[in-house]
This record gives sequence, structure tokens and C-alpha cells, in this order.
Amino acid sequence: MMFNVAVLGCGWAGVLASHALSKTGYSVVCIEKSENPGGLLRTEFINGFTVDVGGSHIIFSKDKTILDKLLVEFLRGNHITHNRQTFVLLGKTLVPYPLENGLFVLPAEERAEALISFMEALLSLGKEWKPRNLKEWIYGFFGKWIAEKYLAPYNEKLWKRPLEEIDVDWVYTPGRLPVPDWREVVKSAVGIPTAGYLEQAKFYYPLRGGIQALFNTVYEETIKQGGVILSNSTVEEVKRGERGFEVKVPGKVIKARKIVNTIPLPEFIEVLKDPELEEYTGEFDYNKVLVVAVALNKPAPSQHWIYTPSENTVFHRYIWMSNYSPYNAPPGKSLLITETTIPGHAKVASEDIEKYTSRTLENLEKIDVVKPGEVLFVKAWLQEYGYPIHRVGLSEIREKVIVELKKYSIITVGRWGKWKYLNMDMVLKDVMLELNQIHG
Ligand SMILES: Cc1cc2nc3c(=O)[nH]c(=O)nc-3n(C[C@H](O)[C@H](O)[C@H](O)COP(=O)(O)OP(=O)(O)OC[C@H]3O[C@@H](n4cnc5c(N)ncnc54)[C@H](O)[C@@H]3O)c2cc1C
Repeated sequence: MMFNVAVLGCGWAGVLASHALSKTGYSVVCIEKSENPGGLLRTEFINGFTVDVGGSHIIFSKDKTILDKLLVEFLRGNHITHNRQTFVLLGKTLVPYPLENGLFVLPAEERAEALISFMEALLSLGKEWKPRNLKEWIYGFFGKWIAEKYLAPYNEKLWKRPLEEIDVDWVYTPGRLPVPDWREVVKSAVGIPTAGYLEQAKFYYPLRGGIQALFNTVYEETIKQGGVILSNSTVEEVKRGERGFEVKVPGKVIKARKIVNTIPLPEFIEVLKDPELEEYTGEFDYNKVLVVAVALNKPAPSQHWIYTPSENTVFHRYIWMSNYSPYNAPPGKSLLITETTIPGHAKVASEDIEKYTSRTLENLEKIDVVKPGEVLFVKAWLQEYGYPIHRVGLSEIREKVIVELKKYSIITVGRWGKWKYLNMDMVLKDVMLELNQIHG
């Protein structure tokens, strides 16, 4: 059978593309390697606990149209609204997030030090100054105190690469990290509570079904519209022919006039076997993410997630998932998950996952979040692709690859198709924008 479009990968980007195309009458097949589509938005239900196994996912967006599409068109009211209660753990103090707005909880000497170095950085940089890498961005916009206490160690822990090697293009992506407003920083340093990163200060989450509920509504509608989902089907080869493409999966060859790719770009280049592009595959660096769920026989504190920059914990944040929805844990019990990154090139065996998991538990006990007798169960999931790394110089290579693919009418979208640190809202925007070319 010949489809109009084969969408490779059935995570968020793949299902959105399949949904939009099938809605406008295209015959679409979405090809997914895993048995269960959903990618990073998968949720598992274990003994009455709802676990988002791709890590903590909340819904927010600067773009009102996109937010409405997510909440109204897709979730159709199955959502709950939260005022963010998020902290950075500095020593034993929980400082409200973002840290530059939460300084008011610190002792006066520390507030003064933070403010002085913040102002020194601000005054020493001209208006035209542009950071060349993440390290310069951190020290330049936040000053030495915030950089050394929090942003530098936290980012080193998250990225596991020297910060000089990481670009700043992702920081300027709308909806990503904010640049601080100095007036608010001054207020917070003199002791007045302020809030920052406002587009995320209020966030949303599915009331029932975990984050996969968002994926599922789009998935189910795609099938109703006639879209075909082929799970358990790893794309092994994509051949270009005169009339379109042949996509080889185990035991089948699928024909399609056009391709929309959402699988990781270097993997896609490999299955495409294009000698022009193959030289670039080594340029796409990434981190895996290990998600450890800990179910507890006690209620959760009034917190959503906590950043942990200290070397005392293997994870960079822990999240009280049971506070995202009252249906995420049985009454009186709670669920937290932790996120730990591991470099993409590292080989991780099951013994390594066990070691990480026991270290996670030990660390949670050490920072007084969990006591041994409270644990109901612990389970870990390793996501091979967690964070694309925007290495300095990557953007030119990425553009070259995308332009080359466009010559063959191949569209590549999503966090991995674009190899960009995109959240769900930006993936939706990317898919909407790029699909115009298919219609055109
Ligand atoms: C820890 C973490 C927390 C996050 N938190 C948030 C948040 O709070 N809010 C937010 O908006 N976003 C968040 N995100 C981002 C969000 O997860 C992504 O924007 C989104 O899920 C990306 O979707 P995708 O389809 O591009 O990628 P994926 O979900 O990774 O989907 C890719 C799919 O391709 C499949 N695939 C790969 N190779 C092949 C192959 N050869 N053949 C067939 N199929 C293949 C995979 O199995 C997968 O299903 C977070 C991400 C992480 C890692």
C-alpha cells in the first residue's frame, strides 16, 4: 500500500504530525519502534500510582494559542491548574525558584553577596554584549554568587560537559530559561518576595491519566481519522525512489510519497544511508535520562519539584509527582521521581541502573526527603534520548542537514528530528509550521 506520508517515530512530534495530516485527508502511517507509542510522554500505572516514566512533564506555554490547543482541543478539560511551588536546595535551605527571585529567604550577608556580584556583572557588560557559551551566559547575566552556588554546578550536573562547550541558542528559545529582571532581583535581595519565569509560574497537568493522557487524546483521534499506527516497527532503512520512499521495518516495506521524520537525526541519517550526510552523525551529542520513581507511605510536602545542584546527590532534581494530580497516588501516600542524566555515549548495563537507583535512595535519605521505612516501591526507567546537547557550532551543522533533507522533500521535526531542546509546546509549534510545506 502506498501512503501519502510516512511519519517516522510515534512520540509527541510523530503523533502530532500524523494527527494534523490525517485530519486534512492524507493517508498517513506512523512507524514506531517501541511496543507502546508515546516516546517521552509515556505513563505507567503501578499499584495505584501514576508514573510519568520519561520524567516530570508539566504543561505551560508563552503562546496562548498553543496553550489553548493543548488544554482545550487536546485535553478537553481533563486538566488541573497549579501555582508552581518549586525550590532550589542550597545546603539545607529550600530557596524559591528561580533562585534570583527567591533570595529573600537567605541570610542578609548572602543576599548582599548575591546582589553585589549580580550588579557587578550587570554594570560591567555593555548593552551589546552577547555570551558565546553557557558559562559566559551564567556568569554574565547572574553574577559570580548565583553562578557558583547554583547555576554552574546545576548545569554541569545536567549537561555533564564543560559549560564553555555548550551554546546559548537554546537559552534564548522562547519559553526556555528567562533572563532576570534586575529590579526584581534587587527586591528579592533586600527581602521582598518576587516571582520570576512567569510563563511557567502557573502550570497545567492532566487531571487523570498522567502526561500520557495528552498524547493519548491526539493518538486516538488520529486513528479515528484513518491514520495507521505501526508499533513494534524499528525503521531500518529509508530508500529514495522516483515516486517516493520505501521504508524498511522488520518483515515489511512501507511505501510513501513523503517522509516526516521525528526519530533522532543521526539515527535517521544512518537509515537514509546518504554519504553526503553520514559525516555529520558524530556531531549530535546528547544525554540519556534515568528516571527513578519512589512510592512512599506518607503524604507529600507542598512542593512540586526541587533542583539539587549539590554533588551530594546523583540526581539534578526530584519531583513530587503525587502533587501534580490527586489521582497520581492513593490517599495518604505519595510519589516522587528523580531525574539523573548520563552522557549519550556511555554504555549503561542493568547493574549500573541498580547502582544509580540505590545511590538515589541513599541520597534522598541523606537530604531528609525519605526515611527507609516509608518506601513502598522503587523502580527505574532509562530513556536513551533525554536531552539534545547544543554544542557550540552545532547549529550550522544542524541547518546544513535540514536543508539537505529538504531537497528530498523530507521534513524533520520535534526534539530529536530538529535536535533542539524543545518542550511539548514548541514541538507542537514546530510541527504546525513545518507541515505547511507538505500542504504547499
Ligand atoms: C526529563 C524531561 C522532562 C521534560 N519536561 C517537560 C515539561 O515539563 N514540559 C514540556 O513541555 N516538555 C518537557 N520535556 C520535553 C518533551 O518530552 C519533548 O518536547 C517531547 O516529548 C518530544 O517529543 P518527540 O516526539 O520529539 O520525541 P520522543 O518523545 O523521544 O519521540 C521519538 C519517538 O521515536 C521513536 N523512534 C526512535 N528511533 C526509532 C526508529 N529507528 N524507528 C521507529 N521509531 C523510532 C522513539 O521510540 C520515540 O517514540 C521534557 C523532556 C525530558 C527528557
